[in-house]
Amino acid sequence: MRRPWRFPVWWLVGGAVVALAGAAAIARQSLEQQRSLFETDARIVHRLLSQQVVQHDAMLATLALLQPAPDSGGGAASPEQRLPVLYPQILSVQRRDPDQRWSDAMLTQAETLSRQTRRAALGGLDLTQGRYQLVLAATPTSYALTIDMRAMVPWPEWPMKAESSPVRVTLEHAGQRYVVQAGAPAADAPAHGWHFGFHKLLAAESQPFDVVATRTVGWSELPWAGMLAWPLGVAALLAALHHLQRQRSARRRAEELLRLGQVARLNTLGELAAGMAHELNQPLTAVLANTQAAQRLLLEAPPELPTARNAMLQAVAQARRAAEVVGRLRQAVERPDRSGQHQPVAAVEAVRRALYLLEPECQRREVVPGLDAPQAVTVLADPVALDQIVHNLILNALQALEQVPPAQRRLTLTVSTQGARADISVADSGPGIAPEVLPRLFEPFFSTREGGLGLGLSLCETLAQGMGGALSAANAPQGGAVFRLQLPLATGTP
Ligand code: ADP
Repeated sequence: MRRPWRFPVWWLVGGAVVALAGAAAIARQSLEQQRSLFETDARIVHRLLSQQVVQHDAMLATLALLQPAPDSGGGAASPEQRLPVLYPQILSVQRRDPDQRWSDAMLTQAETLSRQTRRAALGGLDLTQGRYQLVLAATPTSYALTIDMRAMVPWPEWPMKAESSPVRVTLEHAGQRYVVQAGAPAADAPAHGWHFGFHKLLAAESQPFDVVATRTVGWSELPWAGMLAWPLGVAALLAALHHLQRQRSARRRAEELLRLGQVARLNTLGELAAGMAHELNQPLTAVLANTQAAQRLLLEAPPELPTARNAMLQAVAQARRAAEVVGRLRQAVERPDRSGQHQPVAAVEAVRRALYLLEPECQRREVVPGLDAPQAVTVLADPVALDQIVHNLILNALQALEQVPPAQRRLTLTVSTQGARADISVADSGPGIAPEVLPRLFEPFFSTREGGLGLGLSLCETLAQGMGGALSAANAPQGGAVFRLQLPLATGTP
């Protein structure tokens, strides 16, 4: 059966899902932020380096345009020799006059290429040392720059702290690589995690170096504080909601018990008064008959006359009045005819309601009730009376179960149909009903319990009969008592 106290499991599952999803969203957002920061930095690095290399093209173009003065001969006074002083990344400037050859074959090749492409071309390339040469073919004198990549990086404008940044930046060309910024040392670089990458050619066709930036975010870099705070927050919220829900359901249960208790008290009072009226009416009728006889006798005796007759008349009148009072009392406490309030009621729901109300009683006695209700059964009944009967039967069963050890306590409720009637049975594994008790079970004021009023079952029987049903009790073959409530099925239901 579906037990209300299982709900927290679903709360737990739902809460875990929300907590995990939230923590994942926080991690995702943090990674997105880091990725965006990385890409911004990488773009700035690309722009700064591009600006630097473009200057080299400009320097060569200016030298080619100016051409050496006829008498300079490449001496110390030549303007190109001042370049290394002004620009620290320029290690040296070489030139080839019309009647000379380059000292290095690479420079010759680069000049030929430069002449073909009409722009500067790369000469010797040693990226491991952070050096390369750039040649521009011109007439009559061509020029070559030897560039130091280390001095080329504009550190003051650099967007990251070169010593501590986890981003690795390299310049790559033709299988060679110059490490501009080492990033996280290899030993610290997380093997598992999220890898970000960026690469783009420098914005100078003469120096087509690939700017490559990489960054790996390790598990340890995730925002664990926030990711843990979220599930804790969810757990706290769920606990508060659960507490609130429990409070609400406890209040509902208490209200329902109060209502049932009030109805039960009213009905019990009615039963009690009906019994008393029944008990009183008989002797009073006898008193009346005897007094009338005495009156007749007195009338036959000669002297006692008017006084005795008056007294007797008064006694008759009193007795009649007493009988009338009892009659009126009986009328007043007679249960109103509720047959007009019979309506289709889902029997299984009535049983579930009673079980829900008695849940604390069951838990207190360590009883886990079982409900066997394979199909929906709709009965024609007074819902309040039906609730009360089932409630009483379960309470009696729980009281009987107190007499056996907890491990042997079983309580089974069955809802089924038998022909045109519904059958609601309450079976327990208690001590059962003694043979001498069985025939007196439904008598008013019969009880074997200490402090028992003995009205419960008699009231249940009256209520069942009032709904056109019946209540019976028996001992089960395997032990324990079985109470069976039969009620008419609502028309139109199986
Ligand atoms: P009370 O509970 O006040 O005794 P009831 O009318 O409810 O009054 O029950 C009458 C008697 O029926 C009980 O005292 C008990 O002896 C017997 N009885 C009722 N239910 C059971 C049960 N499940 N198992 C054994 N005896 C029962």
